[in-house]
Amino acid sequence: MTTSLVLNDGQSIPQLGFGVWQVPNDGAAVAVGTAIKAGYRLIDTAAIYGNETGVGEAIAAASVPREDLFITTKLWNDRQGYDSTLRAFDESMKRLRLEGLDLYLIHWPAAQRGAYVDTWRAFARLKEEGRVRSIGVSNFTIAHLERLQRESGIVPAVNQVELHPRFQQTALRRFQEKAGIATESWSPLGQGTLLQDPVLKAIAARHGKTTAQVIIRWHLDSGLIVIPKSVTPARIRENFDVFDFELSPEDKAGIAGLDDPRGRIGPDPDRFS
Ligand code: NAD
Repeated sequence: MTTSLVLNDGQSIPQLGFGVWQVPNDGAAVAVGTAIKAGYRLIDTAAIYGNETGVGEAIAAASVPREDLFITTKLWNDRQGYDSTLRAFDESMKRLRLEGLDLYLIHWPAAQRGAYVDTWRAFARLKEEGRVRSIGVSNFTIAHLERLQRESGIVPAVNQVELHPRFQQTALRRFQEKAGIATESWSPLGQGTLLQDPVLKAIAARHGKTTAQVIIRWHLDSGLIVIPKSVTPARIRENFDVFDFELSPEDKAGIAGLDDPRGRIGPDPDRFS
């Protein structure tokens, strides 16, 4: 059973969840169904992933009650703006077959579009109306977060950003901790590229665990929310089997040493639109 964190709006979020980027819609129901059976309760999708329908199918078919699941989806960049956000939200909910959502995220600031503050006001309305329990952002930098706070007065519950041992986002995490914003790690395994790292492999061997499990344990121990993705049933289960060991201070020091300011894999949030 995963641990939970309490967000700045009082809602509780499972710390370990299941991400479905690049999972085709026709495979999403099986993958999410497998994840729910393995114990995952947080599912992370997005409108742009094209698999909300498949995710919705798995939620409807799950033996777990809806209120025990925590569903996140995200607004894509081309739907930013007050009215278009409200419409895009309705469309996502229809595909997911849900009445209410647990967490809605602005997928990217896409600052060149000049619309993320208006988008955020629409998010605040969805929360006020009780259609979303928690609202947050993704890929926001400190400057974007400061602007939201300044112009709306509403602090996001979560910022979901690229974060893994090779790109640890120390400055952003420090800022968010002070601001009461929970940090959620995307591509937590570096999209699989970290699994052959010799430092991580040695730590895994010492604990009799896999490299993926060591990395996920590191995210949890760092107070992060983490959403690894796999479509392979054995790996989906493996990635959830991380609650029976602890990293030592030496292990953590070794992982701290892997941080690299050039370790980003995905797009730069200041440029992507
Ligand atoms: P990830 O770091 O979770 O790595 C996934 C890949 O690692 C898999 O495709 C597989 O190849 C490999 N893998 C996973 N478990 C393994 C295991 N136990 N053993 C061996 N290999 C294993 O990468 P990700 O999918 O990019 O990120 C996770 C989730 O984060 C996504 O599915 C999505 O939900 C979210 N995400 C969000 C954004 C955003 O902009 N907000 C961007 C990227 C990803």
